[in-house]
Amino acid sequence: MFTAPRGTIDILPEDQPYWRFLNRTIDEVTAIFGYQRIDVPIFEETSLYVRGVGEGTDIVDKEMYSFKDKGDRDLTLRPEFTAGIVRAYLQHGMKTLPQPVRLHTTGPIFRYERVQAGRYRQHTQFDIEALGELDPALDAEIISLAWHLYGRIGFKNLALQLNSIGCPQCRPAYMQALLAYYGSHLSEICPDCQRRLERNPLRVLDCKSEQCQPIIAGAPHSQDYLCEECREHLAALCRYLDLLGRSYTMNHRLVRGLDYYTKTVFEVWAQGIGAQNAVCGGGRYDGLAELLGGSHTPAIGFGSGMERLVLTMKEQGIVIPEVTTPQVALVYLGDEAKIQAIELLDALRLAGIACSFEFGDRSLKAQMRAANREGVRLALIIGADEVAAKQVTLQQMQAEGALQRIAQADAIHTVKQLLIRGSS
Ligand SMILES: [Zn+2]
Ligand SMILES: [Zn+2]
Repeated sequence: MFTAPRGTIDILPEDQPYWRFLNRTIDEVTAIFGYQRIDVPIFEETSLYVRGVGEGTDIVDKEMYSFKDKGDRDLTLRPEFTAGIVRAYLQHGMKTLPQPVRLHTTGPIFRYERVQAGRYRQHTQFDIEALGELDPALDAEIISLAWHLYGRIGFKNLALQLNSIGCPQCRPAYMQALLAYYGSHLSEICPDCQRRLERNPLRVLDCKSEQCQPIIAGAPHSQDYLCEECREHLAALCRYLDLLGRSYTMNHRLVRGLDYYTKTVFEVWAQGIGAQNAVCGGGRYDGLAELLGGSHTPAIGFGSGMERLVLTMKEQGIVIPEVTTPQVALVYLGDEAKIQAIELLDALRLAGIACSFEFGDRSLKAQMRAANREGVRLALIIGADEVAAKQVTLQQMQAEGALQRIAQADAIHTVKQLLIRGSS
């Protein structure tokens, strides 16, 4: 017996309504905000991610699915979207389009990480990017998009967490302060943080280990070390968020480990998923395009794991709006009735009416029981009498005993009338 590889899941039919609803809501909200869909390849040159995500990150050091193809090329299944989208922006000369270029996508990403609830080695991500604009009003727009999206999905108790991690001008002074502070607490921090201090020091701030929490709480804040430009950028963003009535919490622990991440970092949190309560995370990456060989291109974006969104929806008891379920059951008794029922079934479906039909010549009782289970509104019954008269007996499931004989030729018209009347 085969099972799905560790860290992968099947999205079964009973979960599909959540996914359809999420995808529909994403399409609606991105359209309102003017973000166009882009699709990038599932694999890219490995060096794109080594440069675009960065050596020293868990992703590049431990989590990538890399392989050589039969032409001896080094390729990697995408571990995130941003690098591929910036690559596409540069490759297709999108710099000549009106800026910012607003893009979104969804699809699988691949990371060899520790498997836990809502986190998989193949998982589906929703991703938003806006490229070519430094105005903090764009940061406010992206955050508003996230806010509208999660509100429209129905999440309750949303909280916006905000930080600024500065820029290549002001970050060195902050790093110095952080390293000096941690230098005086070396014996108190976890082994992971000891390593992080050498490779990727900002990441000590999002350590989850119990023993590091008091140290993190006393660490210097990046906000206190911002240069004039970064300070003004943050102040302007906060003014826009205040204007829109979007409350936020400054959180000095929100960081991105790499140099090309700049200024704004944010997460949206939703209650109900315990320790992993971020439903999205994002920020500015004004230095990334240059790192990939392009010209300076300020940009901001965020990503959201969709399996986690589904998990949070379930935990918050969010009800999905009705999806199409069968409204009519075809019920037959005997061979000739089955033939007529199959013809009528096909005609109803062509007319856009969702129908159910039981195979295997089961008893009237069994077929009616199945119709009840499906929750249909009408049953169309064809027995020997109906066959001879080219008629059908129509039963409204809610109104017990309300039987009606109609000509098969009139069935589509009558069914449509009844369904319309019933739904008004
Ligand atoms: Zn700065
Ligand atoms: Zn630690």
